[in-house]
Amino acid sequence: MTSKENPAGPRSLELNVELPEGTINARVDVPEGPMRLVEFTSSVLVLSSEVAAMGERQVAKQDYKVSCRKGCGACCRQLIPLAPTEAVMIAELLDNLPSELQARVRDRFERAEERLRETGLWDKLCALDDPDVSEEEMIRITREYFELGLACPFLEDEACTIHELRPSACREYLVVSPAEHCSNPYQAGITRVPISLRLSKALAELHAELFAVSPRLVPLTKALRFERDNPRIRGLGADGAQLLQMFSAHLRRAIN
Ligand code: SF4
Repeated sequence: MTSKENPAGPRSLELNVELPEGTINARVDVPEGPMRLVEFTSSVLVLSSEVAAMGERQVAKQDYKVSCRKGCGACCRQLIPLAPTEAVMIAELLDNLPSELQARVRDRFERAEERLRETGLWDKLCALDDPDVSEEEMIRITREYFELGLACPFLEDEACTIHELRPSACREYLVVSPAEHCSNPYQAGITRVPISLRLSKALAELHAELFAVSPRLVPLTKALRFERDNPRIRGLGADGAQLLQMFSAHLRRAIN
């Protein structure tokens, strides 16, 4: 992985990520001077889309076609893991939505929390923080979550209301199996497009390094709560180029 200054602008940096299946070239715009972590997070999401596009090209070589389409939000009932700064980004994004849409989304977040608390899953989701929780337990929690049928609060008419700024896990989730299988993946089975880099993992590691904490992921349905409990994150920042350099090291380690 390399990063170099782009001649078009002193802080428009080109990031070359070498994956097993090829190299991704993405340009990340960082301002002169300090940059908020939330802004940094939004600006590197483009990498996730590039990784997914690379995966799509790979499966196309084997004559597979991605079956994900606008209007199919079946995967938006799954547990979506976010890096902490993505959770804060989501909260900020919500603050800036038009008031009517914002009210509807906030209401859905509240109802999702109520439902998760009723079923006892709210506390179990803390397992995402715990590196000692076994993979079997994580799979059990993920399945229990899916079986609740809770749609993501940002989903309306089976379409994402924040599509342009959706988190990395949503960008990286593509399937080649029939779309109808996604409504019941534990029975019918689904075939995902292989993705060799999880951006949320690298962002979570960057957050852990900056705050001297253990890496953690936040379920999307808990994003607003996480932001309320961690109000400092929204305003914090650092030099953009320096952040990108630190992030690059974590990206390299996040490649499968
Ligand atoms: S953020 Fe958008 S794409 Fe992601 S789960 Fe929610 S509705 Fe679906």
